[in-house]
Amino acid sequence: MHEMILCKLGEVVLKGLNRRSFEDKLMSNIRRRVSKCGEFRIYSKQSTIYVEPQSDECDMAAAYDACKKVFGIICVSKAVPCAKDVQSIIATAKDYLSDSMRCARSFKVESKRADKTFPLTSIQLSQQVGGALHQAFPMCEVNVHDPELTVHIEIRDEQAYVHGPSEPAAGGLPLGMGGTAVSLLSGGIDSPVSSYMIAKRGVNLEMVHFFSPPYTSEAAKEKVLSLAKLLVPWCGRMTVQIVPFTEIQEEIRRCCPEEYFTLIMRRFMMRIAQRVADQIHAKALVTGENLGQVASQTIEALGVTEDVTTVPVLRPLIGMDKEDIIRLSRKIGTFDTSILPYEDCCTVFTPRHPRTRPHLDEVREAEADLDIEGLVERAMKGREFVRLKF
Ligand code: ATP
Ligand code: MG
Repeated sequence: MHEMILCKLGEVVLKGLNRRSFEDKLMSNIRRRVSKCGEFRIYSKQSTIYVEPQSDECDMAAAYDACKKVFGIICVSKAVPCAKDVQSIIATAKDYLSDSMRCARSFKVESKRADKTFPLTSIQLSQQVGGALHQAFPMCEVNVHDPELTVHIEIRDEQAYVHGPSEPAAGGLPLGMGGTAVSLLSGGIDSPVSSYMIAKRGVNLEMVHFFSPPYTSEAAKEKVLSLAKLLVPWCGRMTVQIVPFTEIQEEIRRCCPEEYFTLIMRRFMMRIAQRVADQIHAKALVTGENLGQVASQTIEALGVTEDVTTVPVLRPLIGMDKEDIIRLSRKIGTFDTSILPYEDCCTVFTPRHPRTRPHLDEVREAEADLDIEGLVERAMKGREFVRLKF
């Protein structure tokens, strides 16, 4: 018996003329993800991508888990091929699904025939296989309306397939189809989630993190790298650009009115992220900003912040409640790391009374004495690059 993984395409099937390129991208993304788990043949037929192990050494459990996190796939299941005759199909189903049949209280069989020359109709095939399975596992009742377990049989050109239960996968669109964006990654709860959400729409990410030693510690930086590593199975390989931010923050404190500290600092983050985007030809910036969460995230403050950018600033969390953000952060596995208590450069030199309704002209005026170009230039020069792979 030789098991394989079936990945069902999600939104990709709604694509028109360019569907082929979405499928090709998805297959190459799957190929890259499972390459660590052994040698697999990967091909697509009728809205399904088949991931077929080529040797007994393949780590099927790891490959299955990897496929569940590939954007573009809506659900995954395992299946076993067999000869296209009813007796082989029954024998395979009994053997392959014995554990699931023993655990479920009810089941039904659903058959699909891609090969219309097969001598039985789908209904006849379901009835025969269903009857044989019920005889073999009498504790499991037939229930065609609301079964606990659905046994899928597919008759394809060369062989038949018996599926195990399917599980939900990542959804979204294949990584890379939406180009590249620069994501501003802090150590908090929000920005790992915003990164995940934009990657899910098919966008490759380059991460930028600002750190301010000695105000922020080495441990805080390590925490951000741990978060980035947790994102790799979803967002793919990435580079984290770590930008020294101390000089900028000290200059702001020295030269600018306290009520504007945070806003001016955020404008520097955006300027630097914009430079990075220009260098790598990224088409947008991504932040974890959320309307009204803090003083620097009012509508007016967001306007002041994005004033210094030319590419769109994507803020996928803008209208979400914190509860929903936390739920997502638990789902993708970043929450427990995000809540570790380390400082962020945003919490250094915070004003006692930040402006919540800033005027752009006043902010521009407030930063006019700074050597903006020189500060940005030196921060860019001081970057450290950390490359993360699967
Ligand atoms: P998070 O939970 O992601 O830290 P937050 O609620 O703490 O977000 P802020 O600290 O105001 O919000 O930051 C808003 C956004 O700015 C973050 O979501 C992130 O995209 C970006 N950001 C903040 N601090 C940094 C940093 N040190 N490096 C890179 N980006 C940052
Ligand atoms: Mg933060």
